[in-house]
Amino acid sequence: MHPKDTLSNVLYIDLTRKTYWVENRKDLFEEYIGGAGVAINLLREECPRGTDPLGPDNPIVFAVGPFTGLYPIASKTVAMFKSPLTGNLGESHAGGRSAIAIRMAGYGAIVIKGASEKPVYIAIHGDKIFFRDASALWGIKSSLTVGRIIRERELGAGIRTIMRIGRAGEKLVRYACVVTETYRHFGRLGLGAVFGSKKLKALVVSGRRTIPVSDKKGYREVYKELFDAMVKSPAMRKYHDLGTAANVLPLNELGALPVKNLQASKFEKAKEISGENLAEKYLGRRLACAHCPVACIHLAALREPYEDEPYFYKTTFISYDYELIYSLGSMLGVENAEDLLKILDEVEVLGLDGISSGVALAWATEAFERGLIGEEETLGLKLRWGNVETYIKALRYIVAQPNEFYRVLARGVDYASRIYGGEEFALAFGGNEMAGYHTGPTGYFGFLAGSRHSHLDMGGYSIDQKVLGKEFTIEELVDRALKEEEWRQILSSLVVCFFARGIYKPEMVAKAFKPLGWKLNVKDLEEKGKIIHRLKYEFKYREGFSLDKLKIPKRIFEVPTPHGILKEETIKEMIEIFKKKLST
Ligand code: SF4
Repeated sequence: MHPKDTLSNVLYIDLTRKTYWVENRKDLFEEYIGGAGVAINLLREECPRGTDPLGPDNPIVFAVGPFTGLYPIASKTVAMFKSPLTGNLGESHAGGRSAIAIRMAGYGAIVIKGASEKPVYIAIHGDKIFFRDASALWGIKSSLTVGRIIRERELGAGIRTIMRIGRAGEKLVRYACVVTETYRHFGRLGLGAVFGSKKLKALVVSGRRTIPVSDKKGYREVYKELFDAMVKSPAMRKYHDLGTAANVLPLNELGALPVKNLQASKFEKAKEISGENLAEKYLGRRLACAHCPVACIHLAALREPYEDEPYFYKTTFISYDYELIYSLGSMLGVENAEDLLKILDEVEVLGLDGISSGVALAWATEAFERGLIGEEETLGLKLRWGNVETYIKALRYIVAQPNEFYRVLARGVDYASRIYGGEEFALAFGGNEMAGYHTGPTGYFGFLAGSRHSHLDMGGYSIDQKVLGKEFTIEELVDRALKEEEWRQILSSLVVCFFARGIYKPEMVAKAFKPLGWKLNVKDLEEKGKIIHRLKYEFKYREGFSLDKLKIPKRIFEVPTPHGILKEETIKEMIEIFKKKLST
């Protein structure tokens, strides 16, 4: 690391006492790189065993990495905390301007501890930290409005991030998200509820530092190589053109797109909600996270007339991607693009995680169909596939929690199904609602055994597709998934957007480290990836996770995947193999 680099500065903030201090943690950054590697260590230090995820002792750790601000697409920030949804390791990544702002403010990580009695937001402007009264922002209906108000009040436009929660976070919905720069999110595992439990409405960060490099010529050469690879790569071009929404039709064709709470894996209206249709009819603009030449963020422009006002229209920009199209589209049987955009907008306004929200509504719809719940529970709402108006009302109830049913549903489908029944079709794995990939055994194995129970851990959905039609053994699938998850620890420590994983390969990463004054070869990186991965499992085991107690919803064995009908024994065998490999 360059001697003048401020990456190893960790800013600690105590919300209870309204104090802060900075510690130089070269020990952590030199050993664990940054991002996820440093964050898991800070979480282990700061989060006492058995901590209540919504109690003041649950810390929030944000961390960036040595490539942040220096190399293209190293645009993400890692957030780590104990998840109120799963009761275990919480990890979520977001882009926007969050990473560059933290780095330019002079920090590699920020740790927020304690809880405020009154609503506050924290403003970090370089080495000046302010605790601002947020009482007037608490309770504002839209997370978008909160962002606009703070934007007016705080300095540092351009290299400033505004992370904030909506009503869902305030009301401690266990799958509330943190919105950053309006269209980016720390989406998964309930960071929004942790903010809410601390009465933390928002975190603003800005800074104006420069980042030193040791070998400027070498840096420029590596930068050019990376940049050229990104702008010329057909894989990255796909993200720019249609975004991940491009996956809707191919996954549907394969029979891997979950439909109506995974009662089917092919959707006859897939074309209507496809990336192609959304782009042709609604695409308004594309955005990029800071320092990303790809710009995969797609915003639809939804133009709606005002009632009784001819020629007056409201145009709303709504971000969409594959996961949202799956969870709030096919999973709910939503058959047209306009309805889909309306429900997406509501989820954004409320500050909910789109994947968990859609899966929760899908479970509730099936539970309603089967008579496990009725209108007494839903407060008169008739939950029916595709009925977006009713779904929007149900989302508002999940946030407002006017009765016991919605209070329970606000804790996720795993919890709700334990109370009301329907566990066999409650599509949560390790307590986390599933992403949109009914691709085969590795996808589900990854949801169950991955460190954050996300499709992003092992990329099992991608492995399933790559091995289609080829010979393979179960052990080979586990090996590939584990190797992928270990390497992703390095990408998460740098912190590089996973969409560029085909470019940031081990040799390229080792090469990119050199001009920055780091001495790490491919072997070092692979070893560190393995160590960081095991540290996450140490934390998970410490907090009660067990690979022997994983619950698998029966539904996944009832609907054909591209690999045919899955067998429970196969998934269990994969978990057994994984368990043995983890202990070596
Ligand atoms: S590819 Fe998309 S998500 Fe990744 S850094 Fe670029 S704009 Fe952000």
